[in-house]
Amino acid sequence: MTICPRCEQGLLELVKISRCELTIKKCAECDAVWGAAVDPSRETFIQYQLLLDVLGESEIEIPYEVLREL
Ligand SMILES: [Zn+2]
Repeated sequence: MTICPRCEQGLLELVKISRCELTIKKCAECDAVWGAAVDPSRETFIQYQLLLDVLGESEIEIPYEVLREL
């Protein structure tokens, strides 16, 4: 188990956004995300919503799949 370094409450999950072939680390609690190869820290996260904005997606339309807990 990896506790989220941002909120220090949620657990990090490895999540795949199927439509974009993108795998990210995501906090189940506060929706902070990191790249799959990034070591999660308070300084390196971005918000899930911002990632979706960058991808031009909306949270309603884009399904993701939890691969495993980290
Ligand atoms: Zn968190």
